[in-house]
Amino acid sequence: MEFFTGVRPLLFSYVLINGILITLQTKEEVLLDMRATGGELGWLTWPLDQGDKPGWEVIQRTLNGSQFYTFSVCNVGEREQDNWLRTTFIQRRPSASRVFVELQFIVRDCNSFDGASLTCKETFNLFTSESDADVGTTFRKGQFKKVATIAPDEITSKNELRINTETKVVENLSRKGFYLAFQDIGACIALLSVRVYYKTCPATVKSLASFPETVAGGENQALREVSGVCVENAISEELPRIYCTVDGEWVVPVGQCQCKPGYEEVEDECQECKAGSFKAEASGDKCTPCPANTQELDSGAVVCPCMDGFYRAPNDPPTGPCSGLPSAPRDLVATTSAGKLLLTWSPPEDTGGRTDITYSIECQRCEGMVCQSCGEKIRYEPAGVGLTDTKVSVSELDAHLNYTFTVEAHSGVTVLTSQAVPPANRPPSTSALTTSLLYTDPPKITAMRVMERSSTSLSLFWDVKPRVHPRPIRYELTYRKKDDNLDVTTYTVLILEKNSVQIKDLVPGTAYLFRVQALSSDGSPGGSSMEEQFETSEHLTQNNTAVIFGVAAGGAAMLFIVIVVLFLRRRKRNSHTRQGPEDTYFSSSEQLKPLKTYVDPHTYEDPNTAVLKFATEIHPSHITKQKVIGAGEFGEVYRGILKVPGRKEVAVAIKTLKPGYTEKQRQDFLSEASIMGQFSHQNIIRLEGVVTKCKDFFKHAMIVTEYMENGALDRYLRDHDGEFASFQLVGMLRGIAAGMKYLSDMSYVHRDLAARNILVNNTLECKVSDFGLSRVLEDDPEGTYTTSGGKIPIRWTAPEAIAYRKFTSASDVWSFGIVMWEVMAFGERPYWDMSNHEVMKAINEAFRLPAPMDCPSAVYQLMLQCWLQDRSKRPRFGDIVSLLDKLLRSPDSLKTIADFDPRISIRLPSTSGSDGSPFRSVSEWLESIKMSQYSENFACAGVVTMDQVLQMKNEDIKNIGVRLPGHLKRIAYSILGLKDQTSTLSVFAV
Ligand code: AMP
Repeated sequence: MEFFTGVRPLLFSYVLINGILITLQTKEEVLLDMRATGGELGWLTWPLDQGDKPGWEVIQRTLNGSQFYTFSVCNVGEREQDNWLRTTFIQRRPSASRVFVELQFIVRDCNSFDGASLTCKETFNLFTSESDADVGTTFRKGQFKKVATIAPDEITSKNELRINTETKVVENLSRKGFYLAFQDIGACIALLSVRVYYKTCPATVKSLASFPETVAGGENQALREVSGVCVENAISEELPRIYCTVDGEWVVPVGQCQCKPGYEEVEDECQECKAGSFKAEASGDKCTPCPANTQELDSGAVVCPCMDGFYRAPNDPPTGPCSGLPSAPRDLVATTSAGKLLLTWSPPEDTGGRTDITYSIECQRCEGMVCQSCGEKIRYEPAGVGLTDTKVSVSELDAHLNYTFTVEAHSGVTVLTSQAVPPANRPPSTSALTTSLLYTDPPKITAMRVMERSSTSLSLFWDVKPRVHPRPIRYELTYRKKDDNLDVTTYTVLILEKNSVQIKDLVPGTAYLFRVQALSSDGSPGGSSMEEQFETSEHLTQNNTAVIFGVAAGGAAMLFIVIVVLFLRRRKRNSHTRQGPEDTYFSSSEQLKPLKTYVDPHTYEDPNTAVLKFATEIHPSHITKQKVIGAGEFGEVYRGILKVPGRKEVAVAIKTLKPGYTEKQRQDFLSEASIMGQFSHQNIIRLEGVVTKCKDFFKHAMIVTEYMENGALDRYLRDHDGEFASFQLVGMLRGIAAGMKYLSDMSYVHRDLAARNILVNNTLECKVSDFGLSRVLEDDPEGTYTTSGGKIPIRWTAPEAIAYRKFTSASDVWSFGIVMWEVMAFGERPYWDMSNHEVMKAINEAFRLPAPMDCPSAVYQLMLQCWLQDRSKRPRFGDIVSLLDKLLRSPDSLKTIADFDPRISIRLPSTSGSDGSPFRSVSEWLESIKMSQYSENFACAGVVTMDQVLQMKNEDIKNIGVRLPGHLKRIAYSILGLKDQTSTLSVFAV
């Protein structure tokens, strides 16, 4: 008996899972193959004795030289045929509950048998019977169940042989084996082949999991779930599973096996990472080459350890590169300012390949030879450790001690080296940089008291910290009468060597305000006291009048005399000297503010000291000149770059001093820096520093200021005539007024406020510039020599300043009014081409400039206020800032336009050319109103005569291409003026 007759070739089919086409292999396991047996089959036929008409007969056939057996039966003319052919016992595989029965057979056409049509059949039946054992030749029909009726698709006729192939499924098999039986009921059949098989899903490795060969499921279990195991060196969180289909196909693998750390997938296997590469985690990834500064291990590496001297910080990924320690910070510099020490340095040259560099500061204080840690006592701002910036400010230092500061660079790996590496093996301490300095703390005034009081004198005493100062210090005592509500406030300044003074000749029963500032031996100011108020007693013993020039100092050795006196003395010596404190112009509320007053550099015996005090010295190598942008009195002005190490580079303007100047001219040149350096305000040009200490001084003396991209305001506005709305112009004026308020608060009088001395940056911010002491007198092209010998820019200067040199903040307010006019008129020249003499005469006769075209009424009203003859009635800069702010906050307030008189707002008389004759051509007229750029527009539109111009309406002007509202108005107003036939130049009287 033959139960198993071999393995058929694998069948291929394709299944699309999740959109991926995968090839699956199916295998058939054959249980019985009639054709392949090649000999006696041993099948049973029934009934056993059939007489003349035998039932199924075995017939031996030869095909292509090989023999095989077939069964046939052909009792078509007989009634009631019931011929059975039963196979041998077919053993079942335990899991094969479903088998396929493939039949090849021939059925003869009943019509081909004459007279047999009544009994002839063309089908036969397939039966099966299960059994746990081979029953031998025992055959009981009743034990068989019908599987199917087999009918041919094609019937064989006399002449033509047709072979049919049909496959039937026998299901639900459960016993150890079974028989098949073929029942003939009167057909003419030849059974050529019977093949019994079942399907399996073959053993496979999928997604690094191996699955065993699995018999395909039966009808009740279409998908058979099969568990697998990960291949060697692969792991999976989930048990890998797959499904075997009825047709013997693997589908839908579940649970992914991945190669362990140190292994990668190569053709369904996990192989060790090659030497020099690693894989840290179980994943589907490939091994990667060891990163920078790591050791290359043999194959199968899970991690690449750091090379000696390189580390990974705790937060670094173990797969990342290793880094070295940073080298030392560079260029450590200590500077003192405002009682603090500023340490700055540059980042290390070698960051060890890291970006998380921080710095810490170590401080040692040394007295004599003994040094110790500074401990908690000193303060670092922002902190002493964990600094990311390359600077720190240090305070609470004791004066006159030697300090040693060490700046150490750290990175994420620094802490590892200190923990993991024993000190002896640690890398050399390359990350520290040390600077030592002797710290001289500027002395501070702590308390001021009255020791003795009389009706005319006060004895004052104040404490100074530190009490014992190893170097000589001096004190600057400033005092004034509290209720000085005249517009002249007098300050008296004493320079004293002791911390006490008796002040005599005071007014009885009067309150005075005192302030003391300590000065270091080098003249640098230390902390100053609060302003203290002390009163003289009421008892009137002397007849002491108004102003307090009288000063005597008893007990205290006076080094300097009163600065007021100094000022007066200087004035005698040099009639060009600037504003002194007695000219200070405060509103009463401002009088009580803590004072920070501008110091006239000429009060220094050596103006070089003033430069040193107020300006930072810049090394010439940090400055690059790029392009000449202007000409100053002393030399070219350049645009350039300032690059101080450790700071961002900035664009700067560089004023130079031409070679060959005298010492006096050098001092005058640098005095501008001494003044500018005292100011710090958004609307005041900022001094970056000076170059004075270069050996080749004359070649290199420079004043370096912030760069203002749009240059001088007058020029800028002329170049952008009509392009800004009133709102923007008022915004510019607000900036200038704020800058002027700051200057007046510091008691500085500018004297040459004009649009040409305002600079504009690229955000249209306006800043006051030009602070040269002698500049007003010599440099300004607008300056005119007056009868008193000085040079004054007449058009911008208040009458009292022209008449008797009364330059005050109130005269600056007058000039500000002129600047307002210049701004609103887009850089128009004040009073046009009137001569200086005509201007002075007109002002004296109470005439004032008319409103510029399109000027908001409120703005023009403010101008007129600035031009009040009585300077005490003019608004203060504080008032001006407030008013402009108010206007800017409610833009509607700018909508009312001041009355405009075209006859005077246009530079030339309205009906004629500059010589008084009528305009000869349209282009001459356009030139006179500075609108020549539209000549072509007029010509193209055919407007070629002045008569035609006079006919034009606003609409026509627009139509020929004049678009800017400012220009439209200028042309329209001019035409209006031409019609008015008025040629008189007049100004408004106020
Ligand atoms: P000054 O000697 O200050 O009048 O400067 C002469 C010219 O140089 C000015 O009119 C400006 O055109 C130009 N200038 C001066 N300072 C600056 C600056 N900070 N930014 C841009 N341009 C400047």
